Amino acid sequence: MHRVTFSCTCGSVAGQIRVASPAAGNHVVCHCPDCRTAELALGQPDPDPDGVAIWQTMPDCVQIEQGADRLAILRLSPKGLYRWHATCCGAPMFNTLRHPRLAFAGISAARLSDTTPLGPVTCHAFMAKPGGGYRHTGFNRAGLRILRMMLRANLSGTWRATPFFDAQGQPRADIRVLSRAERTALRQP
Ligand SMILES: [Zn+2]
Ligand SMILES: [Zn+2]
Repeated sequence: MHRVTFSCTCGSVAGQIRVASPAAGNHVVCHCPDCRTAELALGQPDPDPDGVAIWQTMPDCVQIEQGADRLAILRLSPKGLYRWHATCCGAPMFNTLRHPRLAFAGISAARLSDTTPLGPVTCHAFMAKPGGGYRHTGFNRAGLRILRMMLRANLSGTWRATPFFDAQGQPRADIRVLSRAERTALRQP
């Protein structure tokens, strides 16, 4: 069992995650247009072509120890992922789904003090193909693993131990939805 600390760029938002082993999540690099748009919307450097590295795990593995009140949520569309970021410095921190029972937490690997406990990247998602469309590596295996973990969290009740939602299932941060015009302006070719 490892404990890995995380913090936003300026250090105001900080905490730690539990990593039992590399099998306790997915070390993913996402190349999708949404992840890229979100980084740009938050004033971060363009992640292309490297993609955005994410550790996908369960919310109960995340402990926010300071600066939780500096977190806000960006959605790229009314149905988009909750993209939790630090309002102090714009650092993208976490992704979650919209309800705590959909137990899922993606942690921006760039925020972690050490990525060694995650093991190597096992999935590259949404790599653009030259003729259009996307290709992935390790995608199905990663998807199955996270689904199994979500199911287990529901059966055991550990989905309730989330730092992201209150007991009523409401997110503990304000939500901003990007307008279509804002989204279009940020989209890269
Ligand atoms: Zn900050
Ligand atoms: Zn993505």
